[in-house]
Amino acid sequence: MAFLKINKPFGEVVAGTSPKSILLAVEVPIKFIQIRIKEPSEVDNYICAEIPDPNQEPQLYKIVSELMTHGPCGLLNPNSVCMSSGSCSKGFPKPYEDATNFDKQGHIHYRRRSSRFYIIKNGMNIYNGYVVPYNRTLLLHFMAHINVEYGGWSMLIKYLFKYISKGAGRIRYTIGKNPNVNDNLQPNNSSDIDEIHNYLDARFICPHEASWRIMNFVIHERNPAVQVLSVHLENVQNMTFRDNDDLHNIVSNNYARKTTLTEWLRNNCVDESGRHLRYIDYLSEYCNISKFM
Ligand SMILES: [Zn+2]
Repeated sequence: MAFLKINKPFGEVVAGTSPKSILLAVEVPIKFIQIRIKEPSEVDNYICAEIPDPNQEPQLYKIVSELMTHGPCGLLNPNSVCMSSGSCSKGFPKPYEDATNFDKQGHIHYRRRSSRFYIIKNGMNIYNGYVVPYNRTLLLHFMAHINVEYGGWSMLIKYLFKYISKGAGRIRYTIGKNPNVNDNLQPNNSSDIDEIHNYLDARFICPHEASWRIMNFVIHERNPAVQVLSVHLENVQNMTFRDNDDLHNIVSNNYARKTTLTEWLRNNCVDESGRHLRYIDYLSEYCNISKFM
């Protein structure tokens, strides 16, 4: 974050971060604000999804080659782990685009021109369709895999809450024996079942996320806090139940009948200190009506 604030590769940083992925609110040039959707080519100033010229930018080419390519998968490598039902689950290789553009849903398609530059990965030549979007300045400074995506689209809230609610990252990996190492203590018997060779499904938490959770810091919060207050006539409140629930049990369940309104009324019966407050003002002195439920 310090680098983003000081070096400003995306302009002035206004706010925002999360443990593993960083969501930035940035101040962009006035011109960009005025033509926000109409000039998607402005995104090219910050995000690139193309292989750089190896002669003009050899360092950047090296980093992109080693860290910012996906696959190969698709027709080049149908057995790649990302393949599902005959296509890449991540959508690679991306189609060529002469210019950055937005589709009708507001999704961005980065410029991926058909060029003569290519990268050799796993013995195969891959082109711009396999490049993971990156920022030139960030990549040259950190020399690490840093995927940068434009987030100014209408479904941003869905993207944001996906990262909050989807839980810890997961990885599928295998531990194998190096075939070049001759281990006399472990005679190679192809009929042995090597369970370690089976894929393991595991989750991983990076150190700062682990410490964040150990210290019990909040994962997300709402600001301003919002509490939905029920309004209903007596005994006609909404009740939630599953299709196969017994309705007699539901109706006789006193807990399920409780709403913020019934609990506000009930609490006023036993606690005189809050009677001067209207229903909508109750939270100004009481932390959470649902706690009474
Ligand atoms: Zn793939």
